Amino acid sequence: MSAFLSAPHNDPTPATDFSNHTICSWDSGLGIPCGAYISVSNLSKHLSTHGVNGPAKSVISCAWGDCGRAAMKRENVIRHVEEVHLQVKYLCDQCNASFSRKSTRNAHVFKLHSYAS
Ligand SMILES: [Zn+2]
Ligand SMILES: [Zn+2]
Ligand SMILES: [Zn+2]
Repeated sequence: MSAFLSAPHNDPTPATDFSNHTICSWDSGLGIPCGAYISVSNLSKHLSTHGVNGPAKSVISCAWGDCGRAAMKRENVIRHVEEVHLQVKYLCDQCNASFSRKSTRNAHVFKLHSYAS
């Protein structure tokens, strides 16, 4: 029997990538921000309570803070809020470079810190 201890398997979807929390500034409909204290990783679930749900192609206006109510496809709203309003950063844990998109960060890690040799 080999003595390998929990050899790293393929990375399962990194769902707990960031653990920041934020105050939801989505206009709850009366010009008053929601104010809920939410986990950023829970953002999409939380925004669905504000009507950000339904088909990915449906058009929704961002009601976050003083956004100016830009209309965009539902599938883009979460990323928009993360990037523009929360300025979520995805950090490279190898060199601490920061990226505004997870896909960019992953591409960076793959390119510069790939373990395949
Ligand atoms: Zn809210
Ligand atoms: Zn916005
Ligand atoms: Zn890096």
